Amino acid sequence: MTTVLNGIRLGVVGGDDRELYLIPELQKQGASIVGVGFEKAPPIPGMVRKSTIQDIVGEVDALLFPMFGTDERGGVKAKYSDSSIALNKEVLQAIPQYVPIFIGWARPALKSAAEKMGIRLIETAKLDEIAILNSIPSAEGAIHMAIKETPITIHQSESFVLGLGRTGWSIARMLKGMGASVTGVARRPDVLARAVEMGLRAVHFEDLEEEIRRAEIIFNTVPTLILDRPILDRVSRDAVIIDLASIPGGTDFEYADMLGIKALLAPGLPGLVAPKTAGKILAEVYRKLILLNLMSYEHRI
Ligand code: NAP
Repeated sequence: MTTVLNGIRLGVVGGDDRELYLIPELQKQGASIVGVGFEKAPPIPGMVRKSTIQDIVGEVDALLFPMFGTDERGGVKAKYSDSSIALNKEVLQAIPQYVPIFIGWARPALKSAAEKMGIRLIETAKLDEIAILNSIPSAEGAIHMAIKETPITIHQSESFVLGLGRTGWSIARMLKGMGASVTGVARRPDVLARAVEMGLRAVHFEDLEEEIRRAEIIFNTVPTLILDRPILDRVSRDAVIIDLASIPGGTDFEYADMLGIKALLAPGLPGLVAPKTAGKILAEVYRKLILLNLMSYEHRI
């Protein structure tokens, strides 16, 4: 293990079990860590615990926020804290410009406030090298949910994967490996052609209303309302929907419930099913990103 982060001070704010593995990995690389939102966490040797973001902003070289970003009020989810932690305008004002913020997803209001204040905000969930590797625990977690929630095997099931992007491909490939009959639903001709090449049934979103009646398990990865009323009307009442798309998902959950269709929103699967793997993925990518961002700032000044 290299110690390329020697002398670098990182503030880790909130998160879930991934951070319990991410922090020691960063420490192994030489970073010193100050944590906010870990009062109830198991001991993390060497980590200094502080109560608020304002307590640490002057002491760190970069700030790391969770993969799920903030809620609409700027609230930061911290599994191991009962205190409310916010990343809002007041907090941003206290952050020196040389301190970059790493966060999974940033809401538009946060992005524009940071931009106005000249603070570098790096959205990590969008980066292929994180999203593709994260798709492995996400796909395993989604299939695990499907196994638990259905009375049938994945083998020979009629499984639909809506959206063939980084997560959709991983789910489709795993389902295929388990012997499911997999339908991949996409809108781009090149993606549909690749689905055929992979041995999937390829369906254009335009034909979903017609095709969806065959589905026994539906995995949605499209972050927009795709499973709306007209589509749900055609879904079998025995089907199970596992919706991975970012909150609020791509399903009309209220309507699905009215129809008696089991539909589950499944956020944060890597942190739930494989926090150790997910934490290590983050540590490896953060190491490079942190060095790159700290160096690029030094070059600018
Ligand atoms: P991605 O690579 O961008 O894939 C999204 C797919 O959705 C793309 O294939 C895209 O197709 C398709 N799409 C987007 N808008 C569409 C629309 N209006 N109609 C039809 N298709 C549309 O993203 P990803 O990394 O796979 O992530 C997908 C979602 O899952 C995100 O919301 C992400 O936050 C979430 N996620 C959740 C978990 C979890 O644990 N629950 C884990 C990982 C990711 P085009 O190429 O045609 O645009």
